[in-house]
Amino acid sequence: MNKKTIIRTFEKIALYMELQGENPFKVSAFRKAAAALEGDERSLSEMEDVTKLKGIGKGTAAVIEDLMTSGESSLLKELEEIVPKGLLPLLKLPGLGGKKIAKLHQELGIDSAESLKAACEEGKVRELAGFAAKTEEKILKELANLANRSERLPIWQLEPVVLQIEALLGSMEEVERFSVAGSFRRAAETSKDIDFIVVTEVVETVREKLLNELSVQEVVAAGDTKISVILDLDEPVSVDFRLVRDAEYATALHHFTGSKDHNVRMRQIAKARGEKISEYGVEQADGTVLTFKDEAEFFAHFDLPFIPPSLRTGTTEFDKTDGINSLVKLEDIKADLHMHTTWSDGAYSVAEMGEALVARGYQYSVITDHSQFLKVANGLTPERLTKQRAEIEAFNEAHPKFRLYAGTEMDILPDGSLDFEDDVLKELDFVIASIHSSFTQSQDKIMARLLTAMQNPYVHMIAHPTGRIIEDRNGYNPDMGQLITWAKEYGKILELNANPYRLDLCVEHLEMALAAGVPVAINTDAHDIAHLRFMDIGVRYANRAWLKRDMIVNTWTREQFEAFIRRNK
Ligand SMILES: [Zn+2]
Ligand SMILES: [Zn+2]
Repeated sequence: MNKKTIIRTFEKIALYMELQGENPFKVSAFRKAAAALEGDERSLSEMEDVTKLKGIGKGTAAVIEDLMTSGESSLLKELEEIVPKGLLPLLKLPGLGGKKIAKLHQELGIDSAESLKAACEEGKVRELAGFAAKTEEKILKELANLANRSERLPIWQLEPVVLQIEALLGSMEEVERFSVAGSFRRAAETSKDIDFIVVTEVVETVREKLLNELSVQEVVAAGDTKISVILDLDEPVSVDFRLVRDAEYATALHHFTGSKDHNVRMRQIAKARGEKISEYGVEQADGTVLTFKDEAEFFAHFDLPFIPPSLRTGTTEFDKTDGINSLVKLEDIKADLHMHTTWSDGAYSVAEMGEALVARGYQYSVITDHSQFLKVANGLTPERLTKQRAEIEAFNEAHPKFRLYAGTEMDILPDGSLDFEDDVLKELDFVIASIHSSFTQSQDKIMARLLTAMQNPYVHMIAHPTGRIIEDRNGYNPDMGQLITWAKEYGKILELNANPYRLDLCVEHLEMALAAGVPVAINTDAHDIAHLRFMDIGVRYANRAWLKRDMIVNTWTREQFEAFIRRNK
């Protein structure tokens, strides 16, 4: 159990209560408790008794106890059962919060997008207090937008589902090996569904376990070679399982990983040699079928190196095979340069994050909590930065083989100034500059803000340079060509933020950075120990842009990194 889980549970309970039309005082008690936990810089294990914290009352303390003992909240479960599922997507409509949706539900019986649309068309919504004919018009427009949104789901929504299925398959002794396939394996930003290749000799047992242990909303197919289900999650997710024999694993995995265009090219290569590729193997001219122990052996059969899934676009991967060896791999990563602790809005203490980084085998990393401007995230003042530094030093003394650097993720303020003076920045090992506010400013203003950061000698890196959230918001639209030119001129690092919500810079911008020779850092921006896993997604995503190992800052040795961060001091 960690703080973030409790905070998220409180927030969910508040939202569900609000949708239920529950007493506002009860709702706000959960929101206040969430804020109290967020504002406290200690991690859960450092608090003697979290239920005694100011801001935690009787009701919220009971939920914490519930979470601590059973790992889940029975109150939240109850609410999830009562609140109509169809109300949740309505929260995505701009201008409709929990309170308004509760009103629509209570007074008009609205429980889905369809019933809301009908009520608007019949002019019933305008009759409610607080709603007008204009609101109706706006809701109808937004409902149409909602329906037009792509049916593809963003990677951040699919990643936890993939993780959960991997844990389930990994726990089944009947499963010999398995892998996720499809566009998710190719580090696509969105996917239509999730595909898994599963090797087993005991199809019935595996099928039964999958159907029983996943939260299945609908079984589309449940045969001996293919199981298709729709999972009952916030948004329904389709998952296909292909059950294959061990000999077929490599070709099935290759086939179902795609892309389609990549597979077309592979089939052409095979055809030229008088062979035929299928999901079952490679058929020879005499009709015999060759199978392979893994994908590497399959590619080797065609005199190709192993082509990482992210590169399989059917465009350049067959022409640039010499470059594959110089691409970054997860094993090359020696550090993570952007993360948060309980000093700001992270879930774990400096020492807890440090231990987790050591356990990942990193050689160094940087703690970069938010700066004072970000009050909602409990950003640090210069005084608190100094105190935090003592904690970081204590960790380093106890871990001589590893180095934790003291950094900051400093806000670039709306007026274009930086959140810390130079004398504060000078003392820090590593300075990230980020934009978290006033996204709607003109591009000129945004660029002026970024230029201040670029020209400051103590700033090392610009984090999540566009501020985009995949399938959600476009960010603040900087002129990327200009930003990359400045990064080159002023010697700054640009970030590939590996959090699957962001993946910022995107592939196209990473290609531009590569062409300009601007160094990139792949960082998880972890707010939780569990987020450190995002490094894998970041590396696979970086492969899509053919980013070379040498230009990725966090593949550098500690000595190289230190030389870089000290050059302007
Ligand atoms: Zn940030
Ligand atoms: Zn951050």
